[in-house]
Amino acid sequence: MYSIKETYYTIQGEGHHTGRPAVFLRFAGCNLWTGREEDRANATCRFCDTEFFGVDGPGGGKFTSASDLASHVSTYWPDSEDDKFVVCTGGEPALQMDTELVRCLQGSGFTVAIETNGTLQIPGSIDWVCVSPKANTDVVLRSGNELKVVVPQDGIVPDMFADWDFDHFYIQPMDSPERDQNTASALEYCMTHPKWKLSLQMHKFLGIP
Ligand code: SF4
Repeated sequence: MYSIKETYYTIQGEGHHTGRPAVFLRFAGCNLWTGREEDRANATCRFCDTEFFGVDGPGGGKFTSASDLASHVSTYWPDSEDDKFVVCTGGEPALQMDTELVRCLQGSGFTVAIETNGTLQIPGSIDWVCVSPKANTDVVLRSGNELKVVVPQDGIVPDMFADWDFDHFYIQPMDSPERDQNTASALEYCMTHPKWKLSLQMHKFLGIP
């Protein structure tokens, strides 16, 4: 059984694949926050800007098999076989993703990406792994395609991850009332630490999901 908060077709707005059309498959639930506002102050991760509680969003629901869920995802792709791309996100998708789901999505022609907080193991067959570490957690995924650090976070300095085994290193300013200040700081960090590239949340500027 897979619990899905929502499914939609959009443009990837952040990180390495910015601008790429993608189906977003948002899994319900996270291991660092319940998703309830009344629990935010006591959560491990407190800056979340995503609704992932429940299965009541557009394209959400419970799916009893990996093939059913892959068929559901396929209905969101336009009438083309080109560059089919699904981003598995959350919540924390690693709570639910398994080898069978990855196989079914790939069997439907999709390149499968995951956006994870890195605290849980994931199926090794996922095509694109993006880890976004959160402060005060034990990150077990220290290799992958893309490391995306949201700043500022108390207890995190991006260069503490600089020797991890990723192909791309991104800094992303936290979306908060201080977003402009966070963006300026992130820009400054990239300019002085050129290993790091700036990731902006383009979808928020565009007003798309
Ligand atoms: S780890 Fe990600 S999904 Fe979970 S609470 Fe933090 S930002 Fe939200």
